[in-house]
Amino acid sequence: MDYYSSQISRLIEEFSRLPGIGPKSAQRLAFHLIRMPKEQVRALADTMTEARENVRYCSCCCTLTDQEICPICSSPERDKGTIMVVETPRDLAAYEKTGKYSGVYHVLHGAISPMLGIGPGDIRLKELMERLEGDVDEVIIATNSTLEGETTAMYISKLIKPAGIKVSRIASGVPVGGDLEYIDEVTLLRALEGRTEL
Ligand code: ZN
Repeated sequence: MDYYSSQISRLIEEFSRLPGIGPKSAQRLAFHLIRMPKEQVRALADTMTEARENVRYCSCCCTLTDQEICPICSSPERDKGTIMVVETPRDLAAYEKTGKYSGVYHVLHGAISPMLGIGPGDIRLKELMERLEGDVDEVIIATNSTLEGETTAMYISKLIKPAGIKVSRIASGVPVGGDLEYIDEVTLLRALEGRTEL
């Protein structure tokens, strides 16, 4: 039954498609939006559309950016010989927040998960391998310490080692199953400094 006007119902339906938004939250958001000043709603809608249209993958490290090459990859200050492999742009942001890492990154956009049917071809591994044909001294694997993260770390290390590039794994001080973005900066730094060669 349609309790509300069809436009409100549509708004609720659209919100409830977003991750983590149940029917109740969708209703709350929809009614909140209706009460917001029109200008503010327009700004929100514009920001969303522009972000969707302009944000793309960095052609080097695959993180999300609104430029062809992201600011980290194009910075002359960063050491291009050290590549830290992370699962998501949020993980990259977590390491950037520490302000202590001066290498560059590679964002996989996921992890290998045989259970979910996600194979090596479904994440940005091919792009990583292409980068390794250049001048790279070390690859630091900073995938999460979940089953998927560990599987991915092992897979990558087996793939890279024959090329004679140093491969290391961040220390397991990072809580098992912990998403990197929720871990505080001190723990992240300790994990990075205590990395071991694979
Ligand atoms: Zn980049």
